[in-house]
Amino acid sequence: MTRIRRRWWIPGILLILVVVLVLGGFLTSRARCWQWVGTPVCRVETSEKIVALTFDDGPTPEGVDYFLQTLTPEGTKATFFLTGADLVADPGQARRLVAAGHQIANHSYRHERMWGLFPDAYEGDIRDTDALLRREGGDAALLFRPPYGKKLTGLPIALARTGHRTIMWDIEDPETSDPKAFSDQVLKQVRPGSIILIHAMYRRRDTARRALPLILTGLKDRGYRAVTMSELLRLEQPGTN
Ligand SMILES: [Zn+2]
Repeated sequence: MTRIRRRWWIPGILLILVVVLVLGGFLTSRARCWQWVGTPVCRVETSEKIVALTFDDGPTPEGVDYFLQTLTPEGTKATFFLTGADLVADPGQARRLVAAGHQIANHSYRHERMWGLFPDAYEGDIRDTDALLRREGGDAALLFRPPYGKKLTGLPIALARTGHRTIMWDIEDPETSDPKAFSDQVLKQVRPGSIILIHAMYRRRDTARRALPLILTGLKDRGYRAVTMSELLRLEQPGTN
């Protein structure tokens, strides 16, 4: 009896260890405001009523049309995290965003989950996208948002090597198909220094697209100003990140 128990003891412990490691890896890979190497920015500590509106994916010509029509009348400057593949597919679109005063930044080349590989596997992807952003008139801010917010150790090390800061968020698209509820939920969470993530580049993101004008009005009514990510980062207190 004892022998049988002993035989099962070691594999049992090993199984538990594997489960803990896999679960721990999974949870830390999706942690928003923490990572193994470096410190991701998910909000800037400030008392000023300033936020950053950030939009992921693309660019697509139709999406850029939408953003320019929606943001320009309000004078809002935003930050667009774009993928290398889409920059190649539609050259000149990111440049239109830059020309309107928006910031463009790195959202990887292929938009894959970047958490299972060594840093070397990610460096080329990051640098290739940087080169495309520069070609579109992007600045030298070197900001990166991980696709799906996923990262473990390889990506943060690659980002440290390439000089990027990881930009996450503290508010993201609420799960609702009602634009008013979408807007209300975003506005309810807003506080000074918030980084708001909205997916509205593609036509299928109809709820977000219809919510955005309501969010812009709501921010203004509450005395908030939306600035680019780099402008928001200027408010950082030394030592907070
Ligand atoms: Zn994305």
